[in-house]
Amino acid sequence: MKAAIFHGPHHRLSIEETSIANPGPREVLIRTAAVGLCHSDLHFIDGLYGHEAPAVLGHEAAGVVEKVGSEVRGLEPGDHVITCLSVFCGHCGFCTTGRPFNCDHQHETRRRGDEAPRLSLGEREVQQFYDLSAFAEQMLVHEHAVVRIRKDMPLDRAALIGCAVTTGMGAVTNTARIEVGSTVAVIGCGGVGLSAINGAAIAGAGRIIAIDVQDGKLDLARSFGATDTLNATGCDPVEAVRDLTGGGVDYSFEALGLKRTSEQAYDMLRRSGVATIIGMLPEGEKLELDGVSLLYDKRIQGSNMGSNRFRVDMPRYVDFYLAGRLHLDRMISKRIRLDQINEGFDDLRSGLLARSVITFPG
Ligand SMILES: [Zn+2]
Ligand SMILES: [Zn+2]
Repeated sequence: MKAAIFHGPHHRLSIEETSIANPGPREVLIRTAAVGLCHSDLHFIDGLYGHEAPAVLGHEAAGVVEKVGSEVRGLEPGDHVITCLSVFCGHCGFCTTGRPFNCDHQHETRRRGDEAPRLSLGEREVQQFYDLSAFAEQMLVHEHAVVRIRKDMPLDRAALIGCAVTTGMGAVTNTARIEVGSTVAVIGCGGVGLSAINGAAIAGAGRIIAIDVQDGKLDLARSFGATDTLNATGCDPVEAVRDLTGGGVDYSFEALGLKRTSEQAYDMLRRSGVATIIGMLPEGEKLELDGVSLLYDKRIQGSNMGSNRFRVDMPRYVDFYLAGRLHLDRMISKRIRLDQINEGFDDLRSGLLARSVITFPG
């Protein structure tokens, strides 16, 4: 099968014929239908985070089950599925206390060193990325990285639920658990930020302030439920949010992964407000906060993949889409082929598009 091979940071990905193993007892072989290009992939291509090479990146995918291992439960060939990088062991402390997104025994879901690798180029092992490796015609994953969905859900839009939607909407509904009527600000209106805005609208936020530096994305943000938009070029977004809300928001969400905007997310809170940092800050980055402001019960927190329980959350997001409440059609800026992946990442780097999705000929 063909896959986009990562040969190290700052190299273009190359499309190469790659071998994929047969499913082991608890593994699932999936024919990839669609995979989104996410900023997290870009962080590895651009060297902000390290990863062993060669590898196949890609982690926002949907597809159709081709084969299942002998011990796989509840999945069969022909099932439509979304994959999730929050693969869970099912028995560690985090898994058994309702936080499978933080599973710290994920290694148990991987192949052991003495087993043949899932992916290879000739004799050479190809590293799996986030236990998925979705920039490929097929994926071989542990059964706990997969959820079955309704067959009337279009798979190119289902792919977005695999990361952007789960991350953005989950940060609002699972991590921050905003209240009906609360005021919300979202910094960064790419796929994750738009999902946070959409999630805040579904969760009943009273006011949703979208912040970006591209007017095109702010227009898009309105169609996802933003009640106010702020172009941060040439204005101080903290002052502007305080002015708009008479003192600050109850909840802020940072969806860019930058130091300055993370600090702004905290600074734009009212007393007792909660800032949730969704974006991936570069390794080694430190945040600076005004210590005295903590006296006002202000909080800042991280969010790992929207604190998901993806086997419950993702089918709900599918229902939201099919009911017209989750606006995935507008989130896809471009559909491209696997061999256009590098140009797709150039577009993502430019910050002009919300989301490009690779679709595979069915
Ligand atoms: Zn992602
Ligand atoms: Zn676990």
